[in-house]
Amino acid sequence: MNAPTVTMIPQADPGAGYRAQKAEIDAAVARALESGWYILGKEGVAFEQEFAAWLGPDQKAVGCANGTDAIALILRGLGIGPGMAVATVSHTAVATVAAIEMVGATPLLLDIDPDTYTMDADELVSVLEDPPPGLPPIKAVIPVHIYGQPCDLNPMLEATNAAGIPLIEDCAQAHGATLDGRKIGTIGSAAAFSLYPTKNLGALGDGGVLATRDAELAERIAAIRQYGWRERYVSSMIGVNSRLDEVQAAILRVKLTVLDAGNARRRAIADAYDEALGNGPIAPPVRRTGAEHVFHQYVLRTENRAEVQARLKAQGVGTGIHYPVPVHLQSAYKDRTPLGPAGCAETARASEEVLSLPMYPELTDAQVEQVCGALRSL
Ligand SMILES: *Cc1c(COP(=O)(O)O)cnc(C)c1O
Repeated sequence: MNAPTVTMIPQADPGAGYRAQKAEIDAAVARALESGWYILGKEGVAFEQEFAAWLGPDQKAVGCANGTDAIALILRGLGIGPGMAVATVSHTAVATVAAIEMVGATPLLLDIDPDTYTMDADELVSVLEDPPPGLPPIKAVIPVHIYGQPCDLNPMLEATNAAGIPLIEDCAQAHGATLDGRKIGTIGSAAAFSLYPTKNLGALGDGGVLATRDAELAERIAAIRQYGWRERYVSSMIGVNSRLDEVQAAILRVKLTVLDAGNARRRAIADAYDEALGNGPIAPPVRRTGAEHVFHQYVLRTENRAEVQARLKAQGVGTGIHYPVPVHLQSAYKDRTPLGPAGCAETARASEEVLSLPMYPELTDAQVEQVCGALRSL
């Protein structure tokens, strides 16, 4: 007798977003290719304007090569570099920490709140009042809206405002999330978005965009992203090369039109998963009160992760781990990167227990039901 075959549902499927809008994306790519202009042209300008308008009034957006560069460009634009520290979390894509070191600053890694996995606001307040000995002065803070869940920004902003330093939002996983009805990315001094293919707004290659209400900062960063040019071939300041190309910008203009619908679909899938988990052995992820989560990832937490992962796999449900090794325990960072007083203990614990379920807008109702069935059986 043959065993029934289960079709595996992948945890992520970036190709599905292309297939869902194939005709429009193909037309946009053809338009960009036929224009004969491939870097910093009409498509890029239009994408920046459309993204800024989507984010909110008075926003300025600057496209760049990727989300890591978006963070680094903001830091450069704010004059942050060697001899300065920047506080962030260890529970993040390594990109956040890499960007701080790219500009020559020292990352200070804080712990997370174990329910929401976002920066522990109390620890931030404490290090700003009483910085770890030997650390260069803390000149910026980068909280990460991890998995699409907004951070507890209000107490953090109170602390950064009191210290007179900027709060930079890492929005790489949270395009469209809101806190107290305000879009994340409009609340701090500036915000960085990755446009990596699997992100809520994803290119079909690399891309990044940053946003700020500070028009002068945006103008400075736009020059820094291209050799410090305000005028062609004239470097008025030290710059880098980090540009968003026209083909990706044209694709992103198409994808931006379905971002809000995609986020709504992600939330509907999350609601279905919550209901399937019910009062079973594994609790649904905590959603912050007053915030709208956009579920870049739907993350379970369990001490029996390997077993749960195997049982889900047997029922055709692919899973991922974000992230298996926190930044402060990676060999490139371990024993040399300063930590806050909490020592990132909750971060280390979370890294052993988190498990991400399939989550992307193109999951079909049948696939969602297959995942829900597997969750009910846990
Ligand atoms: C994806 C990501 C980045 C970096 O984006 P890239 O486009 O891959 O450089 C930064 N921070 C977080 C939290 C991310 O998830």
